[in-house]
Amino acid sequence: MRYISTRGQAPALSFEEVVLTGMASDGGLYVPETVPQLSKEELADMAGCSYAEIAFRVMKPFVNGEIDDDTFRGLVKDAYATFSHDAVVPLNQLDANHFLLELFHGPTLAFKDVALQLLGRLLDHFLDKRGERAVIMGATSGDTGSAAIEGCRHCDNLDIFILHPHNRVSEVQRRQMTTVLADNVFNVAIEGNFDDAQAMVKSSFANQDFLNGTRLVAVNSINWARIMAQIVYYVASAVAVGAPHREVSFSVPSANFGNVFAGYMAYKMGLPVKQFIIATNANDILHRTLAANDFSKQELAATLAPSMDIVVSSNFERLLFDAYDRDGHAVAALLERFQDEPTALAEAPLAKLREKFASHSVDDATILEVIREAHHRTHEVLDPHTATGYRAAERARADAATPMITLATAHPAKFAEAVVKAGFPGVPLPPHMDDLLEREERYTVLPAELDAVQRFVAEQRR
Ligand SMILES: *Cc1c(COP(=O)(O)O)cnc(C)c1O
Repeated sequence: MRYISTRGQAPALSFEEVVLTGMASDGGLYVPETVPQLSKEELADMAGCSYAEIAFRVMKPFVNGEIDDDTFRGLVKDAYATFSHDAVVPLNQLDANHFLLELFHGPTLAFKDVALQLLGRLLDHFLDKRGERAVIMGATSGDTGSAAIEGCRHCDNLDIFILHPHNRVSEVQRRQMTTVLADNVFNVAIEGNFDDAQAMVKSSFANQDFLNGTRLVAVNSINWARIMAQIVYYVASAVAVGAPHREVSFSVPSANFGNVFAGYMAYKMGLPVKQFIIATNANDILHRTLAANDFSKQELAATLAPSMDIVVSSNFERLLFDAYDRDGHAVAALLERFQDEPTALAEAPLAKLREKFASHSVDDATILEVIREAHHRTHEVLDPHTATGYRAAERARADAATPMITLATAHPAKFAEAVVKAGFPGVPLPPHMDDLLEREERYTVLPAELDAVQRFVAEQRR
């Protein structure tokens, strides 16, 4: 198994290389050259297996023998032992045929833990094997930074530097990062906004001289290993409600498209999926593209579901690659046009996407309404991201007979602001985090100057 770029110009890579590399050198994203298949028998055999065992079986072909089975099993087991629920990602039945897949039982209470707990361990494993060290740099407005820190805090060969805008992330989100006191974790509060932080990270990747040859690694959702780890919960939940003997559908709160693309990979591997519903907030590029063939950027809106606030969905490129029959030149041409002006997909690829994908966009007022309505009907308090998925599942599902699984991407306690706005007294943090507001914090405040940040990284890394 090799990995190839969606823009057709970068060299093919092994699994190890693809884990250690972010974006392809031609600006594209890596995808597997061929999609491994799960037979009906293999799927049926997973019924009753632990999550870690299903994870091992689903991901093994992607690893391509580059990690021996026992070692890989160990990494997977360790990664999911950090979750606070025995089922790792439990299914919660809401009504006769609608289920909530709770992806928020990891250390930072959002679905990104599922991928980042494994990615940290994979990076550490490969670096150890090579006798190398690496530096991770990332900018965060909340969710990704804390999940990346939790995923890397025990990794001997990694130092992680996460930049957040000083005084511009919520206290819970800041503390989820800054109370991790491990020696290899460095939180930097930038005296600027998120875009300043992001720009400094981008510049650091573009010119890495300040690190004197040490590898700089990205853990954002363009890393293939994150997609790979997310395929697993589509398979596990579908098998739990009757696959491969019946079809299931999924509704996915979406932004960068990494989550729902993983579901599409599960489908390509042989999982019987009837329909994927893409749920967006007011930042609705995915919905506009699917529904109206309006593939264009619009201004960023700050919504009650902030982890879905995006202008461009980076992983959508992976789906386009498939829709355009893996023609890297066509994908590159489309995305170059898209950078500069509103554009549209060609008719045949769009028609292909519409066979499997539906979409629905949910504004802030509706998010609040859904949180109240879902509580009234099911006694569950949904987080604002999950609320978009819940509403989209109701509005866009093709039929009532196929089980619908809505992905619950965050714990409501993490986004208490929306829950309180919806009229609830708030949601307590789960027991293992209830002292978060008393824990010791550690972070460094730096000016929004590239030199100062790079000097700090170069000096502090071990
Ligand atoms: C990141 C995130 C999303 C969006 O996921 P994508 O993979 O970017 O589509 C949705 N909900 C929550 C809570 C998130 O943290």
